[in-house]
Amino acid sequence: MNNYFIILAAGSGKRFKTKVPKQYINYKSKQLFEHSLKKAENSKLFKKIILVLDNPKKIKKKYPNNILIIKGGKERSDSTIIALKKIKKYKPTNVFIHDAARPNFSINLLKNILKNLKNNKAVVPFIKPKDSIKYNFKKQIFNLDKKKVILTQTPQAFRFNKLYYYATNQKNKITDEASLFINQNHKIKFIPGENHNDKITYLSDIQKSITYFGIGFDLHKLIRHKQLYLGGIKIPFHSGLKGHSDGDVILHAIIDSILGATRKKDIGTYFPNTKKYKNIRSPKMLKPIINNLDKLNYTINNLDINLICEQPKVSKFRNKIINSISKLMGLEKEKINLKGKTTEKLGLIGQEKAIACETIISITKYD
Ligand code: ZN
Repeated sequence: MNNYFIILAAGSGKRFKTKVPKQYINYKSKQLFEHSLKKAENSKLFKKIILVLDNPKKIKKKYPNNILIIKGGKERSDSTIIALKKIKKYKPTNVFIHDAARPNFSINLLKNILKNLKNNKAVVPFIKPKDSIKYNFKKQIFNLDKKKVILTQTPQAFRFNKLYYYATNQKNKITDEASLFINQNHKIKFIPGENHNDKITYLSDIQKSITYFGIGFDLHKLIRHKQLYLGGIKIPFHSGLKGHSDGDVILHAIIDSILGATRKKDIGTYFPNTKKYKNIRSPKMLKPIINNLDKLNYTINNLDINLICEQPKVSKFRNKIINSISKLMGLEKEKINLKGKTTEKLGLIGQEKAIACETIISITKYD
């Protein structure tokens, strides 16, 4: 197992318009380069892993001794040469070169490359293009037969001595090490790559998202001669819920959970007990809160509700209430759950003097 894995992560990523260079951005809860590092490590195929960065001082984390972190060069090909020179003293047999911008390759691909390296000096994964391809030559556009076109990916693997010789004697700028072998008319074994092993080039290649949770709670007193509203609909019952509004505990708890998840204080901040909101129906309060969620690019993942009361029995109205909430929130019914709880006839709720509700919501913000 005299194999070495070089990760190139020294680029400035000019097409990637963020303050942080691309290789350091957070992608699927890790810095981009860490995905390649972890996979190479977990494969247990490599004696050493060499991480080539623009500035190794940016790494505060302690890595094991088999991971070398070194400073790269101006261009990609400069970084490759620096890394190859660094490991020459170990007399490697094989070396893999990989772009940190491809975090999604599989360990199987590594194994397959290594297997093919037994009888070949250069092994390069490729995929077929999906788009039609044109070629611009001296200001004239030609059609290319896409069946004859291959797109090369990384990791690419080589016999160390051969690659070292080609890389240190190269004159032209190259964008991958396969080019060195092609320029020298040296045979490459091309093997099937992986469609998901895409290069992350633009910020839009990664949809960044953060998920938040919010809880809500509400309780209203039950009083005679008032209509009971739960989840935005009328429920036939001997009493209704007392409040400045219609007293809909479910919708109020939902509003508070949304405000919680979006870090926007509470329901009283937006709907104080003023004349303006006297006897307001709760769907009217929920609507602007939902509209604001859409405006800020939040998506609701799910909503779970505990309705705490002795009567009415939730099971009797569950579907109606869920339908109503689904319509009011523009949320699929499958994402809403409503549970009924009693307090075993204990306390004010048990004596049918009040109804309470608690909710939890999960929302994701996409940039
Ligand atoms: Zn309320």
